[in-house]
Amino acid sequence: LTDSLTDNLSIALAHHPVQNKHGDTITSAVTNLDVHDLARCARTYGINTVFVVTPLEDQIRLIGQLVAHWVSGYGATYNPKRREALEGVQIIESLEAVRETVALRHGTPPKLVATAARPPGETMDPVGLKRLLEAGAPVVLVFGTAWGLAPAFLQTADHVLAPIRGRGDYNHLSVRTAAAIILDRLLGDRH
Ligand code: SAM
Repeated sequence: LTDSLTDNLSIALAHHPVQNKHGDTITSAVTNLDVHDLARCARTYGINTVFVVTPLEDQIRLIGQLVAHWVSGYGATYNPKRREALEGVQIIESLEAVRETVALRHGTPPKLVATAARPPGETMDPVGLKRLLEAGAPVVLVFGTAWGLAPAFLQTADHVLAPIRGRGDYNHLSVRTAAAIILDRLLGDRH
């Protein structure tokens, strides 16, 4: 892997601001499976940090306990591979806090690149995103939960990634699958 690609890239799984079925902006509940699968996927492709974004204090506590069990509790010795993946998980209260954390870490504010199944406006293709990373810009790739990222966030994100398209009209990938496909397009070994 080219280091500039992975060193500059982190991913965020947003539970706020996301949409419900009716298009209202809500906060969704964190799903255990999402955290495990995204952490393993990120670790596989050399990404150091997976931000799990939720403003809900009880969720921050709950996911904190879950991650601590696998990183430093009994789970760490029971399953070291799971520990290795979950070590990269950082629970954080907002996407704004993600921006500030990455800015401090890299010395320059990151570009937030949103993902969506049906982006409302202009999009950036994976080649464009790769160029951005190679040029040294820190990037946070933001994934949604529930019915996807809220339109207000899609409008203020620095870029929106072009959607994954299959071979028909069906367009309902899980966030875990979408993240795996996108990371493989950006970072996968093609040889
Ligand atoms: N409850 C669902 C689950 O089990 O994952 C949540 C689906 S949520 C709408 C899916 C998220 O995955 C989106 O916010 C986006 O981040 C990503 N996603 C889904 N389909 C996509 C596509 N075709 N292209 C890009 N990203 C996609």
